[in-house]
Amino acid sequence: MSLSRRAFLAGAATTTAAAALAATAPAAPPITPDRSMKSVTIARIETFPLLYPVIGRFKFFERSDGRPGGRAAVLVKITASDGTVGWGQSVPIPKWSYETIETVTSTLQRYLIPELLGRDPFDTAGLHAAMNGAIAPSFSTGQPICKAGLDLALFDLTGRLLHQSASQRWGKKGRTQLTLSWTLNPKTLDDVEGLVAQGHARGYRHFNVKVAPDPKFDIELCRLVKRLVPDGFLWADANGGYDEATALAVAPKLADLGVPVLEQPLPANRLTGYRRLKQLGALPILMDEGIVSSVELEEFIQLGLLDGVAMKPARCGGITEAKRQIEKVLDAGLMFLGSGLTDPDLSLAASLALYGAYDLKYPAALNGPQFLQGSLLRQPFVVKNGELEVPDAPGLGVDVDESKIASLIAKDV
Ligand SMILES: [Mg+2]
Repeated sequence: MSLSRRAFLAGAATTTAAAALAATAPAAPPITPDRSMKSVTIARIETFPLLYPVIGRFKFFERSDGRPGGRAAVLVKITASDGTVGWGQSVPIPKWSYETIETVTSTLQRYLIPELLGRDPFDTAGLHAAMNGAIAPSFSTGQPICKAGLDLALFDLTGRLLHQSASQRWGKKGRTQLTLSWTLNPKTLDDVEGLVAQGHARGYRHFNVKVAPDPKFDIELCRLVKRLVPDGFLWADANGGYDEATALAVAPKLADLGVPVLEQPLPANRLTGYRRLKQLGALPILMDEGIVSSVELEEFIQLGLLDGVAMKPARCGGITEAKRQIEKVLDAGLMFLGSGLTDPDLSLAASLALYGAYDLKYPAALNGPQFLQGSLLRQPFVVKNGELEVPDAPGLGVDVDESKIASLIAKDV
């Protein structure tokens, strides 16, 4: 069955995927910091390089020698002058974008942390300006994945000082649960049935597929998944892997198969191609890698290059900027999907808090729980029936068990 873009958007609120995402929590008014909080300063910032074991095949973690690699991350601990602690996490994936565990660690320690020490943790704009002054932009924000670790830790710290969860802080109604999407990244079509069964066994009902560069494979993949999961939300992400001619040819075929959105079909700098795909109108075109700061988001919206954005706080420098982008997307009448960077622990908590507060309508491709082992959290996230609870405690809503850090420390960084 073919779904036109208009029919898809109009019907989105009543699809089974959306209906599964029904739980809501009461709204609370935002509270501003009182006078005593303004005297709190950033006393100490520590970093810990981590490596989470990866289970299953995901192309972004494969090493060139064929052995499975781990999921690198850098844990950030900010201690305020009153002893309050905030935790964040940078989550580089060098095969997805250019940052590495080593660049994150050296940039934090030598360039960004010295800019923040002694400052007011509530001065969000000033702290981000200081970070962006120390590590300047190129086309967009420089080293956003690194900066996201600090932004998350600052958000956690200030939320704890305010005694507010993300949704309380933003005065949003929000959801208490988010439905997840299972990521399919098969090497051959023969693998698909088993991979779908793995997702079903964990309670997942919705699937996102990695496509490109081979359109024949991709069409057969989507046909097969649609046959195995006829009622699921099937979301295709090309990670910039098609050329324009291929993308223009494949988009209507994916739409005919019932694929509701095509994410990042072209490389991030192929803007003319995005405009042609949007004009073709076969199915909604979403950007991911192409949107780092809200400046290019505004520009790309005005140029008519996209129908929506697959959000991920790590890509755009943290939860502060990601929230700004969701608001711009919604103001423009476009759609946002909840994506991620195979986020562990604190990065996952930030994504859940953000998407929960902003009432995400579609299954979230937060595949950390699918691909990663190990956790630093006192109460690790547990997927139940393909859903995760949105943390509702102050800050990012989760507690780090410091005794667990040693078990995940990355060596030789
Ligand atoms: Mg993507």
